[in-house]
Amino acid sequence: MSEKMQVTRELFNDVMVPNYAPSNIIPVRGQGSRVWDQNDNELIDFAGGIAVNCLGHCHPALVTALTEQANKIWHLSNVMTNEPALRLAKKLTDATFADQVYFANSGAESNEAALKLARRWALDNYSSDKDQIIAFNQGFHGRTFFTVTVGGQAAYSDGFGPKPGAITHVDYNDLEAFKAVISDKTCAVMIEPLQGEGGLVSPTSDFIKGVRALCDQHNALLIFDEVQTGVGRLGSLYAYMDLGVTPDIMTTAKALGGGFPIGAMLTTKAIAKSLKIGTHGSTYGGNPLACAVAEAAFDTVNTTEVLDGVKAKEALFRAGFAAINAKYNVFTEVRGKGLLLGAVLNEQYQGRARDFMVAAADEGLMALVAGANIVRFAPSLVIPDADISEGMARFEKAVAKIVNA
Ligand SMILES: *Cc1c(COP(=O)(O)O)cnc(C)c1O
Repeated sequence: MSEKMQVTRELFNDVMVPNYAPSNIIPVRGQGSRVWDQNDNELIDFAGGIAVNCLGHCHPALVTALTEQANKIWHLSNVMTNEPALRLAKKLTDATFADQVYFANSGAESNEAALKLARRWALDNYSSDKDQIIAFNQGFHGRTFFTVTVGGQAAYSDGFGPKPGAITHVDYNDLEAFKAVISDKTCAVMIEPLQGEGGLVSPTSDFIKGVRALCDQHNALLIFDEVQTGVGRLGSLYAYMDLGVTPDIMTTAKALGGGFPIGAMLTTKAIAKSLKIGTHGSTYGGNPLACAVAEAAFDTVNTTEVLDGVKAKEALFRAGFAAINAKYNVFTEVRGKGLLLGAVLNEQYQGRARDFMVAAADEGLMALVAGANIVRFAPSLVIPDADISEGMARFEKAVAKIVNA
């Protein structure tokens, strides 16, 4: 191996645009739910690369799929199709409501495709004034200009000039407010079946069923953004399967590739036909390497063993948080479902989620935040129970440090 330049955290400030504020720790390798930094300090991973690493780090099934495909063919573009993409599409459609798939490289791109498809579908089947898109305050759908505008956080979409139009926001779980804005001019409703970035907010059953019924009443497409909730994260393959509500379009990314960038938009044949030849596309979408890894991840996650395991591990996490809270009294509640959980800080610790995340890292635990008041956890779906208890012990030390400071 050739001699490589020495890399330090300071280099980030010199050579990277300043849109992120990464930790001072630079991980260099991982195995399962453990990660090691440049100095060989070990960390337990309760963050999962923001709900991406569904099978932890360097899972053997994924390493095998990637290296086998790496020795066959890497990239073709959509001028030619490829075997891994078609196999993955077949498995996704067999396992879900959908008949057809569009591949992208990220969650935002998958949502962009869904929104563009919805507008085309409305134009093809109705008229140009059926263009309204309804979405929800605090929602998150990605960072392209269309998706960030549909997302319900003005702080992310302001400051870039004129926004895409005909987008309306209402509060999540407020069926009356939703009812007041939907009409025959609504072309689509984009919603997360559990708000992730917005604070681990679960939909009430009446709300999500009411949204479906009103979409049907007004011939509007219901788009489920399952970028964060999909691929087993909540204990079912996709969150919609547990809600008793089927969307018309669904997007999936994050855990889909288990750490390799890929996203997908899934829908029915009747809707898909509006994406005629040439209407939309992507150079990398459906790339053989990404699809080969995603197929292996999908096969591994889509088993009762792993999905039931998520529910069992959720119980361990909840018990761990309850024990810590009984001692230190820092949370009001633990929100979320499956292995997407958020510990909500109480009055005394408002605005300090990041402090908890940093303190956890100091104790050798990778955690996340969701806004200023929630410490978020999105570990591997197959994290060993022993790593959960060791991680909890480290989290307790971090909490104790903050409480006793
Ligand atoms: C992360 C996320 C996205 C954006 O995905 P990217 O891969 O970062 O583009 C979109 N929707 C939801 C619900 C997400 O959690």
